Amino acid sequence: MWLDPHTRRPVAYVSHGHSDHCRPHGHAFVTPETADFYRLRTGRTALTVMNIGETLTRGLQEVDVFPAGHVLGSSQVRVRDLATGHRLVYTGDFKLRPSLTSPSAPVLECETLVMECTYGAPRFTFPPTQQVVAELIAWVAAVIASGNIPVVCGYALGKAQEAMAILHQAGHLVAVHPSIQPYAEIYTRHGVELGPYVVMSADPGSPSGSGGRVIVCPPQHARSIRETMPRTRMMILTGWAIDGGTPGRLPIGTALPLSDHAGFDDLVEYVERARPKIVYTVHGNGGFAQHLRRQGIEAHHLGV
Ligand SMILES: [Zn+2]
Repeated sequence: MWLDPHTRRPVAYVSHGHSDHCRPHGHAFVTPETADFYRLRTGRTALTVMNIGETLTRGLQEVDVFPAGHVLGSSQVRVRDLATGHRLVYTGDFKLRPSLTSPSAPVLECETLVMECTYGAPRFTFPPTQQVVAELIAWVAAVIASGNIPVVCGYALGKAQEAMAILHQAGHLVAVHPSIQPYAEIYTRHGVELGPYVVMSADPGSPSGSGGRVIVCPPQHARSIRETMPRTRMMILTGWAIDGGTPGRLPIGTALPLSDHAGFDDLVEYVERARPKIVYTVHGNGGFAQHLRRQGIEAHHLGV
């Protein structure tokens, strides 16, 4: 069973529904929520659905899945060798910070840890989520007070739904770009409270464009919204905000570091509590594996 392979494989474990993980495999192992995203993206139905808390025994291996806290349905997988007791954990994309739209990730003790390290440098220690959410709400209020329309940019699966839930809790009405709707429907079907929302018409520049609502849209559609709705003010939710990053080529004026990924402190905490004998890192530039080696922990960057 390949773990999140980037190319089509006969049997694969798919940790979550983002497009770089959903390849049309021969057979996929997925959680119920990821099954819906996987079917939507690939059209494939050859699946084994694994529920959180269930254990699957195949030959001499025991396999179970746990929440990863990244997006709805995201999961970590643990494979235990029944002969030796050796446990391998693959985190997939994960975070330890809380979220309104996906269950929190536990730290899993193991001997071999394969972990996602997108933000593996110390500067990527994100501020508390409550603080970032408060800044987001304050920004939205300021934009509305200035007579403009707030547009919150985030990826169509995960970040957009988190923004919708935050805005709903703050009492705002929301309009979403049409590309967000299929994923939002899956969230709602699985019981996540996103609040009432409308889907923007194909012509966002029509007089009823946002209807006085806060717009949520993926960053790649920011320009088309800006061109048809001049009174918009845009912000993006991304961990890269730590690097001062608003994407230069997009008309997005500000960024807040609300990330679906583990920050550096999450990564350190995970390794400290999981107590692995060996760590393999994926994503990022390999800096976190170097950091671990300096602490005396055997670690290698797999470079994928
Ligand atoms: Zn992801």
